[in-house]
Amino acid sequence: MKIFLATGNSHKIDEIKAIFSEVKNIEILSIKDGLNIPNVIEDGKSFEENSQKKALEIAKFLNMITISDDSGLCVEALNGEPGVYSARYSEAGTDKANNEKLIKNLKGIGNRNAKFVSVISLAKPDGKVYSFYGEINGEIIDEARGDTGFGYDPHFYVEEYKKTLAEMPEIKNKISHRAKALEKLKQNLENILF
Ligand code: IMP
Repeated sequence: MKIFLATGNSHKIDEIKAIFSEVKNIEILSIKDGLNIPNVIEDGKSFEENSQKKALEIAKFLNMITISDDSGLCVEALNGEPGVYSARYSEAGTDKANNEKLIKNLKGIGNRNAKFVSVISLAKPDGKVYSFYGEINGEIIDEARGDTGFGYDPHFYVEEYKKTLAEMPEIKNKISHRAKALEKLKQNLENILF
C-alpha cells in the first residue's frame, strides 16, 4: 500500500522514511517522488490542528491516504515558545536565524528545559483522521554542537546521551518526538487501514 507523506521538509522526509523502512507492505511517497501538492496554510493554534489540516487537505487533493507531521520546540522559560511558530520564529525563518533568536532570548536565563513535540496525523480521502503525539525532553545549550539533523537540533542537548540531537542521527530516529509519535501510528496502523 502507498501512503503519501505531506511535507516539503526534506529532513522530515528522510527521517520518517527511515523510521518507516521496516514496516512491511507500506511504501511512503513524497514530493521527492515527483508528486506535486498545494501549499497548506498552517494557521492552527495547536500542533494537532495544523497536523490534521495538512493531512486532510492533501489526502483529499491526491485521493490517497496521507500522513503529516506538525512539530516544534517548546521552551519552558519562554512560556512554551516558539511552539507552533518554530519554523518561522525569526523574521528570516532560516534555521540559523531561528537558533540565533532562541539563544538571544535565553540570555541570562538559567532554566534551559525544553521539549520537542510532534503530532503525526494519518488522513483518509473520506475525511477520517487519526493523530498521534510524541515528545522528547532536553535542554537548550548556547553553543551549537553537531552537524546532522535540522532546525534546533544542534542546540538541543539530551542529558542521557550527553549529546545534542545533531550529534546522534541514528539515535535521534529512535528517541525523538517524531519517532515516538510514528511508533504509536505503526502500532495502530493495521486497525486504521483494514
Ligand atoms: P513545521 O514544518 O511547521 O512542522 O515546523 C517544524 C519546525 O520545528 C522546524 O522548521 C524546526 O524549526 C522545528 N523542528 C521540528 N522538529 C524538529 C527536529 O526534529 N529537530 C529540530 N527542529 C525541529
